[in-house]
Amino acid sequence: MSKICHKIHQLYNAMKKHSLPQWFNEQGIPKNGIYILFEKGELAHSADRIVRIGTHTGNNKLWSRLKEHLNENKDRSIFRKNIGRALLNKDKDPFIEQWNKKNLAKKNKKALDPNSVEFIKQEEIEKRINEIEKRVTEYIIDNISFVVFQIDDKDKRLELESKIISTVSLCDECKPSPDWLGLSSPKEKIRKSGLWLVNKLWKSPLSEKDLKELKNILENAGHSEQRSKLLISKYQGCLLGLAIGDALGAPVEFLRLQEIKKRYGKDGITDFHEWRGFKPGSYTDDTQMSLATAVGCIRAYQRWSERGICHPASVVHRRYLEWLESQNNPVQRRGPGNTCLSALQSGEMGTIEEKINDSKGCGGVMRTAPVGLAFSSGRAFQEGAEYAAITHGHPSGYLTAGFLSGMISYIIEGKTLAEAIDLCIGQLIKYDEHSETLEKIELAQKLSVSQKSIEESIQTIGEGWVGEEALAISVYCSLKFSDNWGRGTLVAVNHSGDSDSTGSITGAILGTLLGVELIPGKWVRDVEESGRIKRIANDMFSIFKNGKKLSLEEYPPF
Ligand SMILES: [Mg+2]
Repeated sequence: MSKICHKIHQLYNAMKKHSLPQWFNEQGIPKNGIYILFEKGELAHSADRIVRIGTHTGNNKLWSRLKEHLNENKDRSIFRKNIGRALLNKDKDPFIEQWNKKNLAKKNKKALDPNSVEFIKQEEIEKRINEIEKRVTEYIIDNISFVVFQIDDKDKRLELESKIISTVSLCDECKPSPDWLGLSSPKEKIRKSGLWLVNKLWKSPLSEKDLKELKNILENAGHSEQRSKLLISKYQGCLLGLAIGDALGAPVEFLRLQEIKKRYGKDGITDFHEWRGFKPGSYTDDTQMSLATAVGCIRAYQRWSERGICHPASVVHRRYLEWLESQNNPVQRRGPGNTCLSALQSGEMGTIEEKINDSKGCGGVMRTAPVGLAFSSGRAFQEGAEYAAITHGHPSGYLTAGFLSGMISYIIEGKTLAEAIDLCIGQLIKYDEHSETLEKIELAQKLSVSQKSIEESIQTIGEGWVGEEALAISVYCSLKFSDNWGRGTLVAVNHSGDSDSTGSITGAILGTLLGVELIPGKWVRDVEESGRIKRIANDMFSIFKNGKKLSLEEYPPF
């Protein structure tokens, strides 16, 4: 694998991707620069695979160059021409010969008698070409997304474009999928390189020095600012998403679905409602303990940065004990789980090696989403599992927690939901006694693409009282509605079972994936302690992603 190719894939995948309808909108497109295209279904380096790199020669012409790939004139865009060639070649359509030539039909017609055979022939050619142009446009709109970055100097642009092309074409991990349209291209270079390109392939790739320069260019052009904004939105989406999902589910925990519908209408519960005397938007123990985990991670980091030594799970445990204290206050008592209470009251701290009990309740997994905001994907799974094992000794009680922490971390690092799940499965199977969790996750994956109704699918997985069911229901709802926070989370809430926990876990996953802007604004505003939760998310971002040292009066080390 080419390390540099891996790095540029990470860099470009983290940038704001434009989809094609936005090509009509010049906003955010620099005047001069390089564009990188991605194509649906094409993956490499656990990210979207680069399928074309391009630039322009004329000054201030990036925007018009990009538009040429959408204007229906193949003779102005070799990219369009090549897509058309592949489509025709795939269909074994002999018209490809005509498509390869310059389109002169319109011009030719002018000199001809409209009644002549030749005129009619030219007209037919023109019609066919227009049809194919439309197909090419459709293909591009449906499949292509892109990122752009600014480089004003023309020579630098051409040099870097050429080196990026060579880097990707030389990388043996950047292979097209078996279904890639380019494999139907008559051009051997396209098939062989996996790129919609025939020039500048397999020459001199980027050096470490070039890569550094490229990174600097991206940072100076404000792309890192763009990335910070995106990440802050994901951090807030995770913590606010989990609190809102929890508050939505709180009134219907323990209710059968039929009962929920009877009480709240045929669509079930669709807004905040009062529960056990707490006003609408109040969260439960799930959010209390998740925030305890978040603050525990912040404190652990602070302890580590001040003393150079720290066992994060012990710091988190201390925070859980503070939470236990708070349960003496009736206003703070929000339906705590018995396992959490008794394990913390025992005076012992459970670990994966020294199991505290045999509980696999969902009290572990419901509180470990924030771990994924604090640790990188290599470590989040293990940390999350450790924090759950403080109170839950059964593997399905703590491995599910590790799984959730891992997923959140992978999503923060730019992975898609499906990739994050697969990568976590890869980590899960390294642990003993993982089969129960694995089976439920695989069931959720299967159900999410089946024809089975949502109600039946969730029932098939279970009710969510135990870790593996709560996680799998949330994975199912997230996969099913990966572009719609509201629908995914409400589906996770409206079932017969542990609605606040499944709502909370799903809310965290989708909130991280989609960012806080895609959570309905009124819930973000009205959920209990919205401001404090947002602040914790911002602090976590500053500490764990920006490497900033904050004055953490709110999070004093012990
Ligand atoms: Mg609860």
